Amino acid sequence: MGEFDGQRAVVMGLGRFGGGLGAARWLAGQGADVLVTDLEPEDRLHESVRQLDDLVRTGRVSLRLGGHNVSDFTTCDLVVVNPAAATPWENRFVRSARAGGARVTSEIALVCERLPVRERVIGITGSAGKSTCAGMMAHALGGLGERAVLGGNIGGSLLGELERIDDSAWVVLELSSAMLYWLGQEERAWAPGIAVVTNLQANHLDWHGTEEHYEQSKKLILKHQRPGDRCVLGPGLNADRWRAAAGCVCVEVDESERIEGLVLPGRHNMINACVSARAVACALGEDRLADARRGVASYPGLPHRLRLVSETGGVLAYDDSKSTTPGATMLAIEAVGETLERGRGGIHLIAGGYDKGADLAPIAGAAASLGGLYTIGATGRALAEASGDAARYCETLERAVRRAMSSASPGDAVLLSPGCASWDQFDNFEQRGRRFADHVRSFLGCTA
Ligand code: ADP
Repeated sequence: MGEFDGQRAVVMGLGRFGGGLGAARWLAGQGADVLVTDLEPEDRLHESVRQLDDLVRTGRVSLRLGGHNVSDFTTCDLVVVNPAAATPWENRFVRSARAGGARVTSEIALVCERLPVRERVIGITGSAGKSTCAGMMAHALGGLGERAVLGGNIGGSLLGELERIDDSAWVVLELSSAMLYWLGQEERAWAPGIAVVTNLQANHLDWHGTEEHYEQSKKLILKHQRPGDRCVLGPGLNADRWRAAAGCVCVEVDESERIEGLVLPGRHNMINACVSARAVACALGEDRLADARRGVASYPGLPHRLRLVSETGGVLAYDDSKSTTPGATMLAIEAVGETLERGRGGIHLIAGGYDKGADLAPIAGAAASLGGLYTIGATGRALAEASGDAARYCETLERAVRRAMSSASPGDAVLLSPGCASWDQFDNFEQRGRRFADHVRSFLGCTA
């Protein structure tokens, strides 16, 4: 018998990145008669729809794409709303479902209410650094011999993993403000035993409508905690205001904290590491803080986000292929600059790519302070021309890597942080990043 035998469930919003997939698969496995509906037409959801093929063929899931039908919402028992749907309290389909008596919920609420031990869940929110901190904590816990399961807004749905999560596992959940909103909608609002808030800047106004709503949604992570729970507050927060929202013991991370031997570059990652170590110490006990710090220090980072892919011969090679805006490139230059020894070590930057029409002047303006700028792709020629003598137009990534690696001395860094999308020369940013690492390795192999 499945938990939802005989019930009609609507998954609202399949998404192109598989948002509703986990919920649809799991509900079908639990016996529900599932309808997946999305405003986008089938041809724009092709990849996600393909992954439901088996369930559609056997009649366990049906599809209504290219628009919603209100009668689907008024005749069902359960609606699972994709967190990407903005201002859901104004959504007429959500309202119709509620008026018709359906339970309206979210994939994350279905997961959280089924986790065996709330006290063994670390939930992370904040405007920036969520994924990095979640990854760091899971890495540190794993390195210290604990079993850690990573989920929420990172990786796929945990609904399919629930059977693997017993009461000995730590669950590390990245929670977006939209997910927190949905958790707060439940009759018995859920919050993790350990809550972490990295920082807060105005963000996602399209979803929340106002800054106040965004902040209030973030605060829900603390509001529903219980006595005996813990929360960790990042140094940039107005701690007084956040403490007031918390019903538990707060650990505040000080701006001046440092962790030795951090693999990830940059001041922002030092903060992420300090916050993560505190959270791991909340989980394992304050006497394990030194272990927790060692554990987070060795975290190699998420793929293609300022990830160190080689340090052979004393040249640090960083893959920041995820950088598709000039702003991200400037942050990467700053972060790598902080890591290189002061006054020594130049940055050899590889930038350029698909032309989105973004203003690349900030990168051109930084060229003179770099060890070298090697430009590639559709924007490469113009970027080199705007950047003066320090820049060389290399056209391809392979040539740029060869030139950058040949020019770099021990103590320098070679940084791929294109500031542009990848589509002119690659399928996606992941492929661009993998090729970068391959070219670095083959350069080192040739010269070894
Ligand atoms: P999120 O999951 O919250 O989007 P990520 O960990 O994926 O955050 O980092 C995304 C980007 O945000 C990074 O590439 C970096 O530019 C910036 N960032 C990360 N951590 C911080 C921080 N603590 N403070 C400010 N910016 C940060």
